[in-house]
Amino acid sequence: MKNHPTPETRPLRFNLGSFRSRIALAALAALLLLAGCGSSSDGDVAAVPASSEEAAPATASGEEEAEEEAEEAAEVVEADEEPALAATEGLNVGLFFDGALAEDVTTEDCTLSGGAEATCYSITVAGFPASHDVGPFCPETITDGADAGGIWFDGVGVYDLDGEFIENLPELYDDENWHMHDDDGNVHITETAEEFDGAARPDVDVELQNHCVEGRLEWLENGEAVTSTVLIPTVPVAADSAATSRGNLGVTLDGVVIAASAPVDAILSAYTIAAFDDCGAHFNPFEGYHMHGATGCSEVGDAADDDPPMFGYAMDGYPVHSPFADGAAPDDLDECNGHTTDAAGYHYHANSAAMNQVIECFFGQVVATEEGGRGGPPE
Ligand SMILES: [Zn+2]
Ligand SMILES: [Zn+2]
Repeated sequence: MKNHPTPETRPLRFNLGSFRSRIALAALAALLLLAGCGSSSDGDVAAVPASSEEAAPATASGEEEAEEEAEEAAEVVEADEEPALAATEGLNVGLFFDGALAEDVTTEDCTLSGGAEATCYSITVAGFPASHDVGPFCPETITDGADAGGIWFDGVGVYDLDGEFIENLPELYDDENWHMHDDDGNVHITETAEEFDGAARPDVDVELQNHCVEGRLEWLENGEAVTSTVLIPTVPVAADSAATSRGNLGVTLDGVVIAASAPVDAILSAYTIAAFDDCGAHFNPFEGYHMHGATGCSEVGDAADDDPPMFGYAMDGYPVHSPFADGAAPDDLDECNGHTTDAAGYHYHANSAAMNQVIECFFGQVVATEEGGRGGPPE
């Protein structure tokens, strides 16, 4: 288990560079606030003083503190109360990035898809990535390079959203109705909240066809990220047979929903490109920022034995790791792209972003009410 990313090893990775002093300050603050702070959203930094809290009851700090903590522990799951579980033994709340969770993690009874009564974590992700920037999405002109835009994927390939891509749309999709730029080479992009609302939906306004669709945080309701609460078994329970889901597939460790496949056919049939950023995610007006393709973002820890790092949890509670590079996948992957390693236990590997399906299927049971319970997948 030594190579599995744990709260103790994560700061080593994220203390690098400009984060160093910020994390150190945050860790200090977490230490000072520790006794009274019940927030599991401190996952990233609270993990640092984990051992000091474990030791707290044994010190002379008194019974009052211990009682306070016991009261909080009845409802709120604190990241630093999590034992150092192996992946196969259950979801580790402490792996979430600082800022990834909008509310304290709690536990509640839940019924799994196979009928089992279980205990689940109620996890509310912030809906905005705590570990990386958002965007860019669409290139502004047909001479822009790859740095100016994000990516597009359609189940076949993954493409840099550069000016050349916009210009070549008629050839790529073999349809002369594509024409996403004006005579000066400026790309048609959704430029207001109204245009975004009109284009980021199944029945795209005709005048917004041939637009590269991108959203902004300030165009969401109240200009705020859209939080999402998911119920995930505290300990995964294998299913009798692997199952697919129409709903959300999981959450990233930095606070973003891993959504079902983007409705690429509908998007393309309206002559739109619902641009993703380089992390394979984008906004829609109702679900906010969500991801459809794994590209190596939001990871914790390092690759262990050539096994790409973890970046999220699936709805059944198993960890999700980044995709293998082309041709590098081992031959022990099951139908859900999962396998068991000494370092990480059972875990999935995300598909290549090109496939527009982050998680192939669920090896374990998801919460019965979670499937399709959120009004279907976001676009
Ligand atoms: Zn693996
Ligand atoms: Zn989407």
